[in-house]
Amino acid sequence: MNINENEISEIVKNVLSEMGTVKAPKRKQLGVFDTMEEALAEVNKAYTLFRHYNKEQRENIIREIRKLTHAEAEIMSKMAVEETKMGNVYHKILKHHLVADKTPGTEDLECKALSGDRGLTLVEMAPYGVIGAITPSTNPTCTVICNSIGMLAAGNAVVFNTHPHAKECSCYAVDLVNRAVLAAGGPENIVVTVKNPTMDSSNMMVNHPTVKMLVATGGPGVVKMLLSSGKKAIGAGAGNPPVIVDETADIVKAGKDIIDGCTFDNNLPCIAEKECFVVNSVADQLISEMQKNGAYLINSKQVKALEDVVLVDVPPKNPSDAPKKTINKNWVGRDAKKILAQIGINVGDDVRCIICEVEFSQNFVQEELMMPILPIVRCDTFEQALDMAVKAEHGNRHSAHLHSKNVDRMTAYAKAICTTIFVKNAPSYAGIGFNSEGHTTFTIAGPTGEGITSARSFTRQRRCVLVDSLSII
Ligand code: NAD
Repeated sequence: MNINENEISEIVKNVLSEMGTVKAPKRKQLGVFDTMEEALAEVNKAYTLFRHYNKEQRENIIREIRKLTHAEAEIMSKMAVEETKMGNVYHKILKHHLVADKTPGTEDLECKALSGDRGLTLVEMAPYGVIGAITPSTNPTCTVICNSIGMLAAGNAVVFNTHPHAKECSCYAVDLVNRAVLAAGGPENIVVTVKNPTMDSSNMMVNHPTVKMLVATGGPGVVKMLLSSGKKAIGAGAGNPPVIVDETADIVKAGKDIIDGCTFDNNLPCIAEKECFVVNSVADQLISEMQKNGAYLINSKQVKALEDVVLVDVPPKNPSDAPKKTINKNWVGRDAKKILAQIGINVGDDVRCIICEVEFSQNFVQEELMMPILPIVRCDTFEQALDMAVKAEHGNRHSAHLHSKNVDRMTAYAKAICTTIFVKNAPSYAGIGFNSEGHTTFTIAGPTGEGITSARSFTRQRRCVLVDSLSII
């Protein structure tokens, strides 16, 4: 299942050019409840029916989810951008097609058989039950759909506490999944959510006995909260992916790939290139190639002005705390053109990324900006770049990228940085199966180690032992 980007991009451009503002149809949304109590009661009821569905029935449901996701990719993408004010409609459409095509279904589940002198033992991947899932504002609808496909394929039911700033489009995605389930003859409410998600509804979901497993996709706060819940939890947390370019790389390709990856959905994906370390001897050429691909280079004075726009002070906890900056959420996922206008630079739509040369300690390098801003640090050697990249990743174990032809350097970087995803000589989105081999996910579980999650991540192992029989040799 490889996505043909050119074909999809043509279709999408045609559709977008014919569309005005998309509004969700006014109808009662399936699986969407006023309170978490109701949602939990209904999903629990639904699970008692769904647990008897076999793999074929589950696969029929997943096929319908894929179909509806393809059909309604545009409306979900427009809704998500309108509601969150973040990202890029065209790229979000591509993400929906990716999630529909490359999220594994029931084929991901395997049974292990151990046959020997003392009989036959089976190890099966069984459902957990009702899973409580928390989703981000950055990839709201794709995460709901991706989690639903994987969790239902494994035989679970799901209750979502979605991001409050993306609740409308997330409810739309939950309704879509329910429409698909009903069309395939499945039960009502095996995927549910609340109309108005809050910290209270999240706490109730996390602590309710109905919920047997928790999955969080988001920043460090939510992952920490889930991991201290006392329940089985999968945490997909923050990243700050560095990209290194060395003197052996194809610099023309590296310049284009990095800008393509860094600007995808305005840098919202947690895997996207967030800072670049380049070996000095090829730095000028790399910057020039980036400029040919829609990057706008700002000078050090303009960097200072930009810091005042996209960063804010972290309120000190103690009077003795050193001043610290963090991101200004108002500028997360916004267009480069709009960000540049804030510092008095007016450019055309062809500018999709802001690039600047900075020192390693500068905040754009250290903070996960999630904006189409790429800080570039010059390094004397590959070894120095590697050292800085490892430090800038902050031990998130998330993603790292490299442009190089040197296999020894690829190996050294991978060993040193220990990330879940490591992409060589391609845009970062190759790491989630976009124009590359391998399945996709929107829940990359570095902290808890499931990695590129799929149906099997949402299962528990059960062993079935028959002694002294059915080993037939
Ligand atoms: P966020 O952390 O602000 O919110 C994520 C979800 O957690 C939301 O539903 C929010 O309401 C909830 N939440 C936040 N703090 C909480 C707490 N203390 N207790 C309970 N619930 C809490 O994330 P966001 O801004 O929407 O998304 C961006 C972040 O998510 C980035 O750091 C990005 O790297 C990360 N992310 C990671 C992955 C991955 O697969 N690893 C995927 C997407 C996003």
